[in-house]
Amino acid sequence: MPPDMRLRCTVCGQDYLAPYRNTVNGERFLLCAECDSVWLPGDDTSRPSGHSLSTVFAGHQFRPDEGDWDLIEPVPDGG
Ligand SMILES: [Zn+2]
Repeated sequence: MPPDMRLRCTVCGQDYLAPYRNTVNGERFLLCAECDSVWLPGDDTSRPSGHSLSTVFAGHQFRPDEGDWDLIEPVPDGG
């Protein structure tokens, strides 16, 4: 993806959104690795989402320091 096509995070403005996949149920989402904001399919990426990884894992408190990063993985080239 060309650099000018990337979506800058509208929450922190510090990083670009990257496609990720929930390895538990296969759901796709966009993640800002800088502030952990999440955009679900259908969310307007031009606006702050209000979602986080805790939204992706509904009812599960996401703990990045306790190995929960194993529950998500980057999706190369959005595919
Ligand atoms: Zn961000």
